Amino acid sequence: MYADIIIDISHERVDRPFQYLIPDRLLKQITVGVKVQVPFGKGNTLRTGYVVEIKEKPEFAPEKLKEIAGVREESVSVQSQLIRLAWWMRETYGSTMNQALKTVLPVKQKIKVREKHLYCCVLTKERLLEEIKQAAGKNYRARLRLLEAFAENPVIPEEVAKEQLQISDSTLRPLIERGIVEVKIKKKNAPSVSAGRSVRLNRDQMAAADRFREEYGAGIRKTYLLYGITGSGKTEVYMEMMDYVLSLGRQVILLIPEISLTYQTVMRFYRRFGDRIAVMNSRLSAGERYREWERAATGEVSVMIGPRSALFAPFSNLGLIIIDEEHEGAYKSETMPRYHAVEAARQRALLGNASLVLGSATPSLESFQRAESGEYTLLRLGSRAAAGSVLPAVEITDMRAEMREGNKSVFGRRLEALMEDRLARREQIMLFINRRGYSNFISCRSCGEAIRCPHCDVSLTLHGKNRLVCHYCGYTVPLMDRCPSCGSPYIAGFGAGTQKLEELTKSRFPAARILRMDADTTARKGMHEEILAAFAAHEADILIGTQMIVKGHDFADVTLVGIMAADLSLNTPDFRCAERTFQLLTQAAGRAGRGSRPGNVVIQTYQPEHYAVTAAAAQDYDEFYRQEIAFRRLMQYPPAYALSGILFSSPEEDVLDLCSQRAGRLIEELVQSEPGVRLIGPVQAPVYKVNDIYRKILYIKSKKCDILDKIRDKIDSLTDGDEKFRSVAVQYDIS
Ligand code: ADP
Ligand code: ZN
Ligand code: ZN
Repeated sequence: MYADIIIDISHERVDRPFQYLIPDRLLKQITVGVKVQVPFGKGNTLRTGYVVEIKEKPEFAPEKLKEIAGVREESVSVQSQLIRLAWWMRETYGSTMNQALKTVLPVKQKIKVREKHLYCCVLTKERLLEEIKQAAGKNYRARLRLLEAFAENPVIPEEVAKEQLQISDSTLRPLIERGIVEVKIKKKNAPSVSAGRSVRLNRDQMAAADRFREEYGAGIRKTYLLYGITGSGKTEVYMEMMDYVLSLGRQVILLIPEISLTYQTVMRFYRRFGDRIAVMNSRLSAGERYREWERAATGEVSVMIGPRSALFAPFSNLGLIIIDEEHEGAYKSETMPRYHAVEAARQRALLGNASLVLGSATPSLESFQRAESGEYTLLRLGSRAAAGSVLPAVEITDMRAEMREGNKSVFGRRLEALMEDRLARREQIMLFINRRGYSNFISCRSCGEAIRCPHCDVSLTLHGKNRLVCHYCGYTVPLMDRCPSCGSPYIAGFGAGTQKLEELTKSRFPAARILRMDADTTARKGMHEEILAAFAAHEADILIGTQMIVKGHDFADVTLVGIMAADLSLNTPDFRCAERTFQLLTQAAGRAGRGSRPGNVVIQTYQPEHYAVTAAAAQDYDEFYRQEIAFRRLMQYPPAYALSGILFSSPEEDVLDLCSQRAGRLIEELVQSEPGVRLIGPVQAPVYKVNDIYRKILYIKSKKCDILDKIRDKIDSLTDGDEKFRSVAVQYDIS
């Protein structure tokens, strides 16, 4: 037997393992992840390495291979665990070991070790408020943001100010010069802003935290689903659990979707845990990222907070992983290995003897089903936590009826009346437009053709007034004035995007001050924060936006949420479209009435009877789950069945046809003996052509998901074995 071994674990070239012979005496001890000693280089000095793959056949002449010298004892090291995790990813998601290793191991970077700073405000509260009133001139928005943050926290870590508040040196300098802000060097391990618990937990929160602590204390490790409606105080429960696990000397990973990693959220954790936390996000450079990794590896920090990739923080004594908003699509990786963070976290928790907590107001069907079957332990929070905060009153408007009764406006009569009322009372309004599954395309009224990208099989999207852009390849053309297929001059946009909605709102409510947040207005760095801060500071009455405005922010004065085109996402070609719609509507409705005044929500839809709409209006997850799980069972979709997709792509259409059909036949033969396996396809991918590459998919539905491994071997030998299929790339995807 032969083993591939990597010598320097955080080297860029983890893709270059070295092959060694496994001597018979070590055969039993050698598995993936084991730490070994091997002779290396000309002098054959003994070096430490890790086994990343075991093979029956050598890749080099066997007589040239050296033997593994011995096994090092501490095989439970975090490196071993991460390598085993990579192996599991390779097996489960059909990637190569190299792709999996690159996902879990950091790439070593030269880093400038710079001191970490703290920004300390020295003003009294009164002087600070005066300063806020007087703020004007250059960088005024950013300065205001910082001063307002100081009103809550006199000390703010530099990285939080820079990352979450987007404060630049040019904003800071005048404040330092005027003696308002002092910059101090942060001492290692000195808890700087830790203030302990801030609220008293309510009964549900206490019950959840107690159950976790009792079981954890008794040595029980398992997966919990913390299911609590929006605003029920899940974050406080996380912090209790974290506190407990940290007090036992173990470490914690907390995953939060990037879009929810706001200043308010991050500071809540800083206030409670001080400098023991590190925060990751995708804006960090490779060097900064590596530095955070090192801080975790050396024990300088014991909590890692961040999006998906924070899951691989190299904590040697990991005790708890928490995944907030576990239903979020962003937890699934879009590059190989296409892992799902929830599944990978279960595996990491298992390898490291840690517990896993999944939290959501709208749990994924997968998680709730496992909670029902007893595989997960369900912890429920039943009501909103903050005093006086209640769920908003939700109404549904049938837009077909509006039309029948002569109202052709985008605003139903009920929403319009409520908007007038709130504007008169100087309360704030959010208008949410569901753009999922919707694209602002241009079509021809004469021939009906939509204008398409010449390289990809999708319609072009209108940006601004006269630019067409392909969202897949970036191709851009000016808007033409005649249809490219038939020459007709009658071409026009379809449906209402955020821009259109802004125009319509302006003309209907000319006195209202409006802010818009979407991909266009937030393209520049820091604009996201600017817009939210301006809205929080009451610089506008109405905030119009896409799903972006749904997450993470509490505006106490928002007492009306209008949801436009609620059903657009019900028509996307995706078996999860009802689930996604329900989640979006529930989260959007949950934005209203966060403060002490009760809120109203109006859902405008063309399918008022659809259960995703009615259940969201009633904020009734259980009802939604009952209906949706029945649909999934009937249709044999996940979580009732496992669904794997194998994507074939090639620039040569005929080669692609041949290859995917052959693969289909091979798989058919293979699964004939397996009961409950169904093969669908090959069919064209939802977007058949991207960047002039054609794509076809084979779907495999099965009761169990452990046949993928055999299938992959078959397909590998097909594509490797035939010169013709050189141009075909294969990717695996598990739903
Ligand atoms: P979730 O994460 O479930 O959406 P949060 O933990 O963010 O909820 O809590 C929502 C709001 O309620 C926050 O402003 C929080 O400070 C407040 N809150 C949470 N728990 C309590 C409590 N026990 N007493 C008073 N306020 C609370
Ligand atoms: Zn035409
Ligand atoms: Zn394109």
